[in-house]
Amino acid sequence: MLTTNPFDDDKLHEECGIFGIWNAETASAMTALGLHALQHRGQEAAGITSWDGEHFHTHRAMGHVAGNFDRDEVIRGLPGRVACGHVRYSTTGETALRNVQPLYADLASGGFAVAHNGNISNALKLRRELVRRGSIFQSTSDTETIIHLVATSAYRTLLDKFIDALRQVEGAYSLICLTPEGLIACRDPLGIRPLVMGKLGDAIIFASETVALDVVGAEYVRAIDPGEIVIVTEGDIRSIRPFAPMNPRPCIFEHVYFSRPDSIVDGASVYTVRKAIGAQLATEAPVDADLVIPVPDSGVPAAIGYAQQSGIPFELGIIRSHYVGRTFIQPGDKVRHLGVKLKHNANRALIAGQRIVLIDDSIVRGTTSLKIVQMMRDAGAKEVHMRIASPPTRHSCFYGVDTPERAKLLAAKLDVPGMNDYIHADSLAFVSIDGLYKALGQERRAAVRPQFCDACFTGDYPTTLTDQDDLGASTDQLSLLAERVI
Ligand code: AMP
Repeated sequence: MLTTNPFDDDKLHEECGIFGIWNAETASAMTALGLHALQHRGQEAAGITSWDGEHFHTHRAMGHVAGNFDRDEVIRGLPGRVACGHVRYSTTGETALRNVQPLYADLASGGFAVAHNGNISNALKLRRELVRRGSIFQSTSDTETIIHLVATSAYRTLLDKFIDALRQVEGAYSLICLTPEGLIACRDPLGIRPLVMGKLGDAIIFASETVALDVVGAEYVRAIDPGEIVIVTEGDIRSIRPFAPMNPRPCIFEHVYFSRPDSIVDGASVYTVRKAIGAQLATEAPVDADLVIPVPDSGVPAAIGYAQQSGIPFELGIIRSHYVGRTFIQPGDKVRHLGVKLKHNANRALIAGQRIVLIDDSIVRGTTSLKIVQMMRDAGAKEVHMRIASPPTRHSCFYGVDTPERAKLLAAKLDVPGMNDYIHADSLAFVSIDGLYKALGQERRAAVRPQFCDACFTGDYPTTLTDQDDLGASTDQLSLLAERVI
């Protein structure tokens, strides 16, 4: 039994982006560029590990990719034709450099570096068992559990050890691992977090999103399938599917907010999907208004869809400063409130005297909506109607998207009329869960298993949540516990 909680100084829920490249002359420079394109997935820290045929080299730093990896001496310190990298964000508590990825270990088989996007929902249980058997952990990251499971596996080959490790793990994991024999990419059997493969000449690339392929001029080959492991070695690419087949449940929130609109996620253009959600929202929740105004940037594609479907003109009624990070990603409530003001400003000349429909992708705590509605009123709007391009976020995510504890989710506390009162809008409506699936070209198979992980909206979690269940919590209390436990 652990006397102190290993996750006390961090939070399990991380938003992350990963990138890996095999056989490129400038592997670490390419990785830096790829991570730059994935910066929206995590802005707190970044790291790159390279392999020069003899040694592994790692540079990990707090902060953005630019500033840490745009210096020649840093890239020169990461030699070799193979590299992998990671951008990360975690929300609460002290964030130690020891948690910044790629994580690295010297295994019996040689060096092993891993970059992980997702969250392992039985990490705490596995960790307790590993510590009991003598494992000494270096970080508080759930990802390190995978390394220890690989290290202690009784199987003979590294690949078998890796498979053995992953079979014990629950939750979400897209992984890129660097070993002396090759680069390994894999996606959990439910395919919760995305992962794609690309090609640039003789180089093979793996990345969280296609934008990271675009930035280095690589060609998109395909998405890695849920439950697939791809192993790239000298002159060979192999694909294996060692897990029991399951109905995939990729994260629907990647399409709503998380991925960049210019990415292709599981074969779908994020931009096109977001526009379709906006059009669906206009059909489900029409308003008699003069202007459709997006909350930039996350509300823009949905607002275009809403405007096109409703025939109401689209205008940029809020101008965003591009020198401030994502609103949500500010520590502490006070700073977060300030952040909204720093980030958005009303385009007064346009708004005064108008009835406006504001479009945003989601309401989490309600901070942004509250401020923006007030900002529109201060700028002289006659009516302010809020339309949200996702269903109410009622449940926390345990699979790698940061959402606050459940008690802080506005939709977990209030019904839609209550939320409307809270944000002081003239009306508030959300797209329905069925409407969201429709925009993705699907009909939600609620009776069987939904095609996506939509747990943040429905509470239908696709895996057991062992760490939370172990604490005797009901599903409703899980996220409340999460902050305390991890
Ligand atoms: P809030 O102000 O707490 O209601 O957060 C809603 C705003 O944060 C919306 O404008 C979203 O675009 C954005 N958002 C939603 N989910 C996330 C997330 N997981 N990480 C960062 N930002 C988010």
